[in-house]
Amino acid sequence: MPPSNRSSSDVKADPGFLAQFGRSDETTEFYSPIPDGYQRGRHRYVVVVGTVMSGLGKGIFSSSVAKLLKDKGLSVAPIKMEGYLNIDSGTLNPYRHGEVFVLDDGTECDMDLGTYERMLDQNLSRANFVTSGQIYTEILERERRGGYLGRDVQMIPHVTGEVKRRIRKLAMTGGPDGGPADVVFIEVGGTVGDHENAFYIEALRELAFEDGPESTCFVALTYVLEPQILGEQKSKAAQLGIKRVMEAGIQPDILACRAHNPVTETVRQKLAMFSNVPMHRVFSMHDRESIYTIPEAMRGEGLDREILSILNLHSRVHPAAEDRARRRWAEFTSRLTAPRAHTITIGITGKYAALRDAYASIDKAIEHASTHLSANVEIRWIDTSEITAANVATHLPVDEIHGIIVPGGFGERGIEGKIACIQHVRNLGLPYLGLCLGFQMAVIEYARHVLHLERANTTEVDPHATNPVISELPEQKKIEGLGGTMRLGAQDVDLTTDSLASFLYDGASTVRERFRHRYEVDPNYIDALTEGGLVFSGRHPQHPIMQILELPQTVHPYFIAAQFHPELTSRPLRPQPMFMGLIASAIAHASPDLPRSAISERWLRVPPKKNGAEENHHSFVPSA
Ligand code: GLN
Repeated sequence: MPPSNRSSSDVKADPGFLAQFGRSDETTEFYSPIPDGYQRGRHRYVVVVGTVMSGLGKGIFSSSVAKLLKDKGLSVAPIKMEGYLNIDSGTLNPYRHGEVFVLDDGTECDMDLGTYERMLDQNLSRANFVTSGQIYTEILERERRGGYLGRDVQMIPHVTGEVKRRIRKLAMTGGPDGGPADVVFIEVGGTVGDHENAFYIEALRELAFEDGPESTCFVALTYVLEPQILGEQKSKAAQLGIKRVMEAGIQPDILACRAHNPVTETVRQKLAMFSNVPMHRVFSMHDRESIYTIPEAMRGEGLDREILSILNLHSRVHPAAEDRARRRWAEFTSRLTAPRAHTITIGITGKYAALRDAYASIDKAIEHASTHLSANVEIRWIDTSEITAANVATHLPVDEIHGIIVPGGFGERGIEGKIACIQHVRNLGLPYLGLCLGFQMAVIEYARHVLHLERANTTEVDPHATNPVISELPEQKKIEGLGGTMRLGAQDVDLTTDSLASFLYDGASTVRERFRHRYEVDPNYIDALTEGGLVFSGRHPQHPIMQILELPQTVHPYFIAAQFHPELTSRPLRPQPMFMGLIASAIAHASPDLPRSAISERWLRVPPKKNGAEENHHSFVPSA
């Protein structure tokens, strides 16, 4: 590499910042690349680390506290730090790691980011998601550029320095509209003691030291065992776990004790005693029926107050804003816990259907919509690998299932079964919502059974399909500038006036939704499909990319599908319209005699009157 490319400017330590440690030159051991303009004392950090085991809900804990502080008028920014070496979650198997969540900017990330977005009602970006892979890549690329001339590159201070740099950068720009965040919530994946997250833990210890007293609140989330054979709670595993945190040089400020039942006074006393955390900062975080009741439960125990005290933030609280936010949230949680007026069953086709984490956002979108519409929803997972046109009716009995979702997916497994399901629900007027792959399958089903293109398929499954109604289009890939990768992230969707889609989105002409796909409707078939009666009611503003399809309500009460993933943008207080429509139609389907007003006028459109049989020009005829 020519010397002219070499520069160490991007990793220079900030002399002003270092002066506090008595040295102001770069040779000091207090190496810390501080982003320009960073003000020490301006931002606070809440660090949540796990002990005993992972999967305890650090994300739920962290997002609930962040919500409480946001409701008080503070600006918050969460960050998830993953130990694995993948650059993002794009290539992870959702059946092993849970759903791949997609952010507005196209970042493919951990499903916890979905929890943060839903809880905070705040869009996140790539700055809120860090993996070891990203950190190492950054360091190694900088090393090749000559960014560390004269020094060996080490885990400490360089890797830890990069972690701190990212956190401080987020503090400066991760608030609403790119402004500063008052409090950054840092969630470290895995548990303390794991090899792979050790440098994060060390970086956070350093951050707290450098930013000084009252800058950082460490929360150790632990687990209290209650073995059935003993019938009582045991604190030893939790003690040992917390000890690892202290061995790493971190004194926890708060203990959050996960358990099935409320953690007993005795156990809390023991944990307080062994970890130097006063009793009033040892909290029981036992199981609750819904994660959305956790913030208020935490508040009831005074957790938010303790965090404000530790961080000396009481003076920044805005009580009127907090009252308003709590009232709105309470309205939602009281609906959540109230008895429901309706009971419905929604079928979801999914491979390895038992693993619910792979469909976390769908689960949440259904929860939001059904809460607003007062419906108890039972989910029935449908393994489509066994389903054929001949036996579909026994798998999807119309009197037991009131709506069907075909979710996103990759590869050919269960594809034919999905198509058989869609044909069945289209013919019988069962409410249908297709998500991404479910959109593509609906197009194939329509092409095969209504347009009689028997060999219609997607090139994902059959690269040599005679009628590739769904295909990968290189020209469009070029237009989108995405090369061979997937079309990722939020895009505008123009809605057709008077369509079901525009009704659901309350008359909006353009909406923004999140995509993650490689294949799409082949433009060569758009005219034929449209003439055959399929309505493409959502389109890309400039390119011939079909983004929503529907059937006219004269022929089907609710048949709609999206090339995007509507489940990713559903929020508790702003449930996603396509899910609201599905649940409302499923309620109507389950109780045909119920007056529509008893369900919801807003989400159930009265179908326009049929103008005689001739208007029904496409073959809406049971075909099996
Ligand atoms: N496999 C399809 C595609 O790549 C659908 C993707 C999805 O459902 N997320 O286009």
